[in-house]
Amino acid sequence: MCVSADDDSMESDILPYWTDPLIPEFRVTVLDCQPVGKAFEVRIRENVIRPEGGGQAGDRGELRIGKKSVPFTDTVMREQGIAVVTQEPVSGRTEAALVVNMDWRRAMMRNHSAEHLFVGTLRKHKPQLQPGYIWIDGKHGIVELTGASVAVEDILRAESEVQHLVALDIPVTTEIVDSSRLDASVRVREGVTSKHDRLRIVKIGESDSSACSGTHVLKSGDIGLFKVVDYKLTDSSVRLEFVAGEPASELVSSVFNAALTRKYEYPYEFDQLGAVLDKSKTAWNERNELLDTVERLVVERPVVEVAGKIAFVHEYLPAFDTNRMKRLVKKMHMTGASIVLLMSPGEKSNFIVVTNDINDSAESIVGDLIRQMGGKGGGSNDVYTGGFLGVRNPLELYDRLVIGLKQRLGTL
Ligand SMILES: [Zn+2]
Repeated sequence: MCVSADDDSMESDILPYWTDPLIPEFRVTVLDCQPVGKAFEVRIRENVIRPEGGGQAGDRGELRIGKKSVPFTDTVMREQGIAVVTQEPVSGRTEAALVVNMDWRRAMMRNHSAEHLFVGTLRKHKPQLQPGYIWIDGKHGIVELTGASVAVEDILRAESEVQHLVALDIPVTTEIVDSSRLDASVRVREGVTSKHDRLRIVKIGESDSSACSGTHVLKSGDIGLFKVVDYKLTDSSVRLEFVAGEPASELVSSVFNAALTRKYEYPYEFDQLGAVLDKSKTAWNERNELLDTVERLVVERPVVEVAGKIAFVHEYLPAFDTNRMKRLVKKMHMTGASIVLLMSPGEKSNFIVVTNDINDSAESIVGDLIRQMGGKGGGSNDVYTGGFLGVRNPLELYDRLVIGLKQRLGTL
């Protein structure tokens, strides 16, 4: 006798995905089909695949009915029984082959079992931590733990300990026990309550013991690589995202290779990677300070030329983006008939033109010139912004723009 998180009626069944989660196909009877929003819930009689519940996503797969194949993207438990979620209707009561998407199932088994070990390890060091939100599917896992502060070092140590437990290839065992016999070390998961007289306890050696209705790997070694990919810390909680198995290997490879392919260009040693990133942060901060200084100089001491009857200020501003140029031009004190041209150079060069006290709109002054030079722009009244794409020599482009604009201003 056993109990699932989601269905009290299963007390007489041992579910197939508990005893053998690698069975890929079942004969089932489709009972009916209900539209739910844009999707359909196809109810099946046999309780053979895992519905969403307890923070774990439902199974995926396909129903084969005669020669037709109908994919399903989720499995849910309703009051009337188990249903698979499809994008097309299935007509009437019929026999079908239910084929489980084993890639999704295996990925969930790995991610879910990894979560057992990871949370178990974190709680071994900080027993005050209480599991809150949990979501596990075939892509990743997310867990939230509250009740204590957790440092980054705690997370990384737990990750390393989990990897050690994976290497030990510990068998995953399950037993059904009276809930009255549970000791405090057993974690009762979301969706699994002690109202059940008997609970399914899942153990991975001495590393974790949880009342759980999910699908698990058979041995910890099946998890493969375990990797934390994000964390968010507060004074009394931590939210963690992780991946396991092949996606974890792919992720680690791609990050490692991003570093490897730059090793000799830069150059640096791998153990200096942290220092390289710190240096990059310092360089970025210094760059922003430098841009602030340039901004102040342009505002306080603009270089003013006179073209016809108009005061003309223009600046070539590497590393400025359009927003920074807009902010700068707002700070400039334009008086009398005047015009400002700012350009941020690059393969994509952006510019902004602002006029003051001139009857003609900025568009009518500069629009034709920009188009003749192959650029694009737009604006209204006293502002015209735009850019040039595929610029090979931005400085030469800038000089031509300044000369062209001066000639145009001379005619006003
Ligand atoms: Zn579990």
